[in-house]
Amino acid sequence: KHPFAKKVTPIPKAKYGGRHAVTMLPGGGIGPELMGYVKEVFRYGGVPVDFETVQIDPKSDSNEDLEYAITSIRRNGVAIKGNIETKSLDTDVISRNVALRNELDLFVNVVHCQSCPGIKARQKDIDIIIIRQNTEGEYAMLEHESVHGVVESMKVVTEENSERLARYAFDYCRLHGRKKVTTVHKANIMKLSDGLFLEVSKRVAKEYPDIQHDAMIIDNTCMQLVANPHQFDVMLTTNLYGSIVSNVICGLLGGAGLLSGRNYGDHYAVFEPGTRNTGTAIAGKNIANPIAMLNASVDMLEHLGHDSHAEVIRTAINKTISEDHIHTPDLGGQATSIDVVQNIIKHVQALSKKCQIV
Ligand code: ATP
Repeated sequence: KHPFAKKVTPIPKAKYGGRHAVTMLPGGGIGPELMGYVKEVFRYGGVPVDFETVQIDPKSDSNEDLEYAITSIRRNGVAIKGNIETKSLDTDVISRNVALRNELDLFVNVVHCQSCPGIKARQKDIDIIIIRQNTEGEYAMLEHESVHGVVESMKVVTEENSERLARYAFDYCRLHGRKKVTTVHKANIMKLSDGLFLEVSKRVAKEYPDIQHDAMIIDNTCMQLVANPHQFDVMLTTNLYGSIVSNVICGLLGGAGLLSGRNYGDHYAVFEPGTRNTGTAIAGKNIANPIAMLNASVDMLEHLGHDSHAEVIRTAINKTISEDHIHTPDLGGQATSIDVVQNIIKHVQALSKKCQIV
C-alpha cells in the first residue's frame, strides 16, 4: 500500500422517495439562465433528480451563504455549479470557488476534451483527458504585501496531493484504456515545487509499466497543443497550468460553451462547465451556449447512476449540434440559447418515448 493510503468512505448520494437530491449553485453571470435550461431539460426527460438551490451573494463580506452551500453538498454528496463571483473589496474574503473546492477536498478536476463533429474548430479529432490538481499550487491564496510595493505569493505543492493525483491519472488510464500520461510542469524554474510534482509522478509511473509516461514544460505544452495536439492522451497538471491548458484546448475545440468539467474528492463530486467562466458580458441576452452546463448535468447523471437518462440527454445534445447544426453565436451560428434548448428537448421527448423511460 502506498504511504498516503487511507480508508475511503463511500461518496454519499442523497435519495428521498426514490429521487436523488443534488445541490445547485447557479453562481453569477450566465449561471442562473444555464441552470434554468438544465431544470427544463430534466423536467421533459422525467429525470428523478430534485435540486436544492443555494444562491451565494457575490458582494457579501460574510461567508454564511458559502457555508450553507458546503453543508448542502456534504448532505447531498453531489452538486452542479456555475462560476461563483466574489465582488467584496475586502482582501480577506477569498474566492468562493477555491474555498468550496478546498473545504470539500475536491483534489482532482477532470476535463475530457473531445472534438465535436459538426463544429467548425481549429483542430479536428482531439481526444485529451486533463487531470488537474484542484486544491493547491498558486491557488493557495496565501498572498501578502511584505513591505509597501513588494507582494509575496505562496505556491504550495505537497507530496500527498501530488501522489494521489498521479495515482488517479494512472488508474484512470487503466480504467478507460488510455495509453500515455504527460506530466505538465515548470520544474526547470520552480525546482522545488514543480520539481516535487514531477518527481512524484515519475515515481508513481514506475508502478504502472503498462502506461507510457513523459513530461513536458508548460510553455512547450502550449505550443505543442496548438501545433500538434494529437500527440497528447492524458495530461497530468498542477492547478494553474491545468487552467491554462484547458482553456487552450477548449479554444481549439470551439470555445468556452461546450465542454464540462468534473471535480472529485474521496467523498464528494461537483460538476460544472470545463472552463469555469462567468460570462457576465453575455448574461441575460439569450445567446449563451447552454451545452457546457448541459454536458455537466449529463456527467452528474452518470455519476448518480441514471445511465439511461444520461444517454438520452447526451444523444439529444449531440444530434442538436452535429446533425441539426443549431448553434449559438460563439459557434458561428445564429440560434438563441432557447432555440438550442428547445431542440434538445424535442429530441429528449422522442428518445425517451423510444426508450420507454418516461
Ligand atoms: P465576464 O465574465 O465579465 O464576461 P470575461 O471576459 O472574464 O468576463 P469569462 O466569463 O471568463 O469572460 O468568459 C470568457 C469568454 O468566454 C467570454 O468571451 C465569454 O463571453 C465566453 N463564454 C463563456 N461561457 C460561454 C458560454 N456558455 N457561451 C458562449 N460564450 C461563453
